[in-house]
Amino acid sequence: MPTPQPRRTPGPRGEPFAVLDPATGEAFDEAPDQRPDELDAIVDRAHDAWRDWRADPVARTTALFAAADAVEAAGADLAPLLTREQGKPLAESYAEIARTAARLRYFAELDPAPQPITDGRPVRTELRWRPLGPVAAIVPWNFPLQLASAKFAPALAAGNTMVLKPSPFTPLATRVLGSVLSAALPQDVLTIVTGREPLGARLASHPGIRHVTFTGSIATGRAVAKGAAASLARVTLELGGNDAAILLEDVEVERIADRLFWAAFRNCGQVCMAVKRVYAPARLYSQVVEALAERAKTVVVGPGIDPGTQLGPVSNAPQLDRVERCTAQALADGARAAAGGHRLEGPGYFFAPTILADAPSGSPVVTEEQFGPVLPVLPYGRLDEAVEAANGTGFGLGGSVWGTDLDRAEAVADRLECGTAWINHHAELSLAQPFAGIKDSGVGVAGGPWGFYGNLRPFVVHRPEEA
Ligand code: NAD
Repeated sequence: MPTPQPRRTPGPRGEPFAVLDPATGEAFDEAPDQRPDELDAIVDRAHDAWRDWRADPVARTTALFAAADAVEAAGADLAPLLTREQGKPLAESYAEIARTAARLRYFAELDPAPQPITDGRPVRTELRWRPLGPVAAIVPWNFPLQLASAKFAPALAAGNTMVLKPSPFTPLATRVLGSVLSAALPQDVLTIVTGREPLGARLASHPGIRHVTFTGSIATGRAVAKGAAASLARVTLELGGNDAAILLEDVEVERIADRLFWAAFRNCGQVCMAVKRVYAPARLYSQVVEALAERAKTVVVGPGIDPGTQLGPVSNAPQLDRVERCTAQALADGARAAAGGHRLEGPGYFFAPTILADAPSGSPVVTEEQFGPVLPVLPYGRLDEAVEAANGTGFGLGGSVWGTDLDRAEAVADRLECGTAWINHHAELSLAQPFAGIKDSGVGVAGGPWGFYGNLRPFVVHRPEEA
């Protein structure tokens, strides 16, 4: 049965839409439902603002540093609002805000210096980097501020302007963030738009947009790429993941169990690069299942706003339904719930932290992205089988290998077909690191200088040495 929602019947376009608190399932505020045809004027203004914004890198750096300070100063307003609409524990909302400010400062300091090109000919060729123009950003609901900043910080630092659309499930903190930033940035350099579809589709295919940077599901990513093809805008797609963690024979289970558990369950498992499958050697299988189940049974689940909460609700009703369906299917396929396996009674979108043992390898909880507080643990006999299973998927975001002999673990990690492979960790990213999923997990690169240059185009000046 789909989860009942007190959502008011969607009104005619232009009427505000309700935003729900996933800890109660109740509407607590609303956001504007902007019409797709409003985008024409918004993109025009972003284009006009681009003329000045691209021209003065020093003013840009100053403004972005001021923006970072303003974001930090607004933390006490932003964090509770983010928790209220998204569900995550308050400390994690504060972490998103800190990351947003840090990202603004990191990219503000990057400088696309001109590069001479020498190839032995009597010419002076120089590569200079130029911004692209107005960029469209489309963001999901799992890390509304952090993922928005992963888009606007490099794009604006590179001299572009941006129109950014948050998920309709989590528009509020992003709107407040937009007002906070607008005090530090020139008008129309960053515009937040909110609304239901087809607002995102229209933004992705708008002829005035030169780069579409999207984070979300694979299906929507394909639609966005199709839309952007109409104007041949550049696309960067950060899509879903089904990351495997392979435990090696020499792993010390109790030593790594906390880290492994949180690599799967942070933000209620709603992390693109969370551990979504664990492969454990047959000899250690029961011990691994038990260690993870013990943690799943004792973790404090509750409203994110409560100080003791470690795990909040699932962020929205459709996602809760998906997690429930996927778990029920695994149990019907023969899996055993070593912990959880069901929704929690009471209001809100709470699901018991779940460890599934003995799930068949073809069950959707193994082959698809569950994106919730549910983790299958699978046994393996030969290591090659585990590597093959980890790679045997259309996803290619991340993966990890856990063991005591780090050289051996690294040799196994090197065989993973994905964008980032961790050893004895998972989902740890520094701002300076590139982040690029392969296969269905993404197109293009985010993060670090590579993400910065993804917002620039090469411009070459070629002149002879002599007149
Ligand atoms: P989603 O694809 O449903 O929505 C993402 C965004 O796209 C939202 O703002 C949504 O309103 C908008 N949208 C919906 N239809 C659209 C269309 N036709 N054209 C343009 N925009 C449209 O994803 P979601 O459920 O919000 O987020 C969860 C997904 O995001 C998961 O698959 C997760 O793995 C992925 N994700 C990936 C990364 C990464 O960096 N790889 C990071 C976080 C989340």
